[in-house]
Amino acid sequence: MSKKIAVLPGDGIGVEIVAQAVKVLNCLKNEFDLDIEMEEGLVGGAAYDDSGSPLPEATLKLAIESDAILLGAVGGYKWESLDIAVRPEKGLLGLRSELELFANLRPAILYPQLAHASTLKEGVVSGLDIMIVRELTGGIYFGQPRGVRILENNEKQGFNTLIYKESEIERIAHVAFETAMKRNKRLCSVDKANVLECTELWREVLIRISKEYPEVELTHMYVDNAAMQLVRAPKQFDVMVTTNMFGDILSDCAAMLTGSIGMLPSASMDKNQKGMYEPIHGSAPDIAGQDIANPLATILSVAMLLRYSLSNEALALKVESAVESVLNKGLRTVDIYTDGDTKIGTDAMGDAVVAALMA
Ligand code: NAD
Repeated sequence: MSKKIAVLPGDGIGVEIVAQAVKVLNCLKNEFDLDIEMEEGLVGGAAYDDSGSPLPEATLKLAIESDAILLGAVGGYKWESLDIAVRPEKGLLGLRSELELFANLRPAILYPQLAHASTLKEGVVSGLDIMIVRELTGGIYFGQPRGVRILENNEKQGFNTLIYKESEIERIAHVAFETAMKRNKRLCSVDKANVLECTELWREVLIRISKEYPEVELTHMYVDNAAMQLVRAPKQFDVMVTTNMFGDILSDCAAMLTGSIGMLPSASMDKNQKGMYEPIHGSAPDIAGQDIANPLATILSVAMLLRYSLSNEALALKVESAVESVLNKGLRTVDIYTDGDTKIGTDAMGDAVVAALMA
């Protein structure tokens, strides 16, 4: 039966990069018998402009009815002064929580062709291949109570709540251990158990679940050390698992090891392998509409979609090798360009990946 993919371009460069990913999906559909149908929806600032909500009912319905969601990015200067309840980012957080996409998989892979594009020494990063598993629907980003209150002396006080139930930690732990089993069987859990009781519980649950995965070597690291180790000796890591906020920060740090934020895909999964796939970067309003954004993170997100939600490893590998072949030809968007490469735009990069698929 045909699988349904919800296509949500969002804002800024989201529109341009998702158009390239859709070219790739259409090529797979028309030339490689991928049985899919795609339907577009509005999310983020574009949705707010259209209906006053960053996550309209119609988009949520489309996302719920689909087997997978391909998302660009949301946000931009235009919507920064809106009330927080209707800001574009609420559309994204709403999708993650409504669909219970609790497991965020963020690979940080350094393509050998881009080793020189990293700000770190080539020897430190070449061969890098880390998978960060971030808890996505709990922790301090969702915890209640939250807000800004007025104290008796009229001073304002901001507050948020870091909160995790055992069951929330257990399910992300299982995803992390399963991921490690498919890789090099090393899992590093990142917490701040020396200061935060909530992550003391995190550590306790990870140790308990580890008994079910005797082949996986589990280690623990405090988040401040993990940040340092990621830039000091990143190749020591195989799979890392951590809370929502720590994962947010560490995965962006890991992204920069690879040279450009424009290269990294992500998957956010529920317990049934339904997932939302998106590049890890934002809507980049500074470069939107100029045909210079790198669409490869979004195209690589299509590969993750094929692998995890459509169980089509063969086509996932095909997309990944098409991206490699484009890099081998020296074709580069401006963010990954160095002297001697051929500089091309967003649209041409999408066409180049399609041409590589057909070659
Ligand atoms: P950003 O990731 O959009 O941009 C950071 C820098 O990286 C910018 O200089 C941008 O030009 C560059 N960049 C990003 N993607 C690129 C690509 N594909 N090719 C080339 N260069 C690229 O982060 P930001 O500037 O902090 O945020 C901009 C907007 O995006 C904000 O409104 C923010 O809230 C939103 N945002 C959305 C998401 C999401 O939708 N998942 C994630 C992060 C930020």
